[in-house]
Amino acid sequence: MTHEYKPVGASDNSPDWFYPEWAAKAPNNQPIVVRDTDSALGRYNLQTKEIGLKDIARIHGHLCDGQVIAFVEIKAVLSKVFADGVVDRTDLQVVSKNGPCWADAAAFLTGARINFKTLRIDASIAGGFIIQRISTGEAYAVHLKPGVFPDDPVVLENRIRSLRAQGNPVTAEDIDTVEKMGDAPELETPDRSACRATRDHKVERL
Ligand SMILES: [Zn+2]
Repeated sequence: MTHEYKPVGASDNSPDWFYPEWAAKAPNNQPIVVRDTDSALGRYNLQTKEIGLKDIARIHGHLCDGQVIAFVEIKAVLSKVFADGVVDRTDLQVVSKNGPCWADAAAFLTGARINFKTLRIDASIAGGFIIQRISTGEAYAVHLKPGVFPDDPVVLENRIRSLRAQGNPVTAEDIDTVEKMGDAPELETPDRSACRATRDHKVERL
């Protein structure tokens, strides 16, 4: 009789109504392993736990391209600054692109916080992050390679955002179209692509 290995503090990666099967099965979708403090007094717990993409989708509110890309990008940097594979979320500071999906993923995965000034939002950072391990000073920039985002959804999404910003009505059809673009199984959307391969982003030591 064989037993499937279950790490202590395993995250739930099962498909759900808000978490499609393609995401659950994507080869690049592996949880990060964290060691957190035991209480607000700061003593470390002896055990580790996993944080996965489904956890992030649940807390953020939905699974979306920005969040999936952020998950893959942040994980790539964390594996460099924590060579033993266990992330200390009290030891990181992050500069994030200005977007709810990106900044949420950064805060949840790294423990960086705006109120402690360890999370900074910078509109000039396109499609990525700067992440530093505070105790070592080691820092990396990670960003999407140009041309990864397909044009059509971006153009339509930008049109909807600017209509809203100007106080103009946005039709339900327009929002349906953007959402359908994200759901189309044949489309190589950035989130699917990011989940499948690491070729879409670049990590640079600073
Ligand atoms: Zn989102």
